[in-house]
Amino acid sequence: MTIKEAQNAVDQWINSYGVRYFDVKTNMIVLTEEIGEMARVISRQYGEQSVKPGEELNLGDEMADVLWVLLCIANQTGIDLTTAFKNNIEKKTNRDNKRHLENKKLK
Ligand SMILES: [Mg+2]
Repeated sequence: MTIKEAQNAVDQWINSYGVRYFDVKTNMIVLTEEIGEMARVISRQYGEQSVKPGEELNLGDEMADVLWVLLCIANQTGIDLTTAFKNNIEKKTNRDNKRHLENKKLK
């Protein structure tokens, strides 16, 4: 699935089952909630937090929740994430193509 196909799939789902998008500010709050849920899994699976009895961890599902809401916000703000992501990679490459290679802390 391409990024464009993912944006279209979310839009189709919202229009079929979601009635309408939450407003952008609400979705920004929901995105923050979902990032918190992802952080919770990371802290238990890779960090020092312990898993509560009966608690199930699914990092991939939490990442998908984060992506879902991000795609919603992109759709409702008119952002083509394919173009934005390509431009972002180009920006990082132009800006940082030597920075990390020359970072002695990474070696
Ligand atoms: Mg979640």
